[in-house]
Amino acid sequence: MHEYSIVQSLVDSVESVARPYEGGSVHHVYVDIGELAGVDCDLLQTAYDTFREGTICQDAPLTIERIAAQWECPHCHLAIRRGEILRCPSCNEPAKLAAGDEILLRRVEMEVA
Ligand SMILES: [Zn+2]
Repeated sequence: MHEYSIVQSLVDSVESVARPYEGGSVHHVYVDIGELAGVDCDLLQTAYDTFREGTICQDAPLTIERIAAQWECPHCHLAIRRGEILRCPSCNEPAKLAAGDEILLRRVEMEVA
């Protein structure tokens, strides 16, 4: 399942963040998930809670922040609002996605021994 492979790489990332702090323990993990990332956040949460057993994330709850999609003009960086035509009204450039497709490990809270 897609969400399980995301959790796998998430836990791998947390491990590489935590590795330099030997004996430290991870307390909380925060991720940003864009609404266009194609991730089901409920499934991701379930996958994480299943997968974290026996990993460095075992005692670290996951908080998922849903990031709304945002478009902007690649030329003048004008923000294009949701529901508007995806084209810059002044440059006539097609808008590009500025946020909303990310899967990002934002923050790891840990206690260092
Ligand atoms: Zn523009």
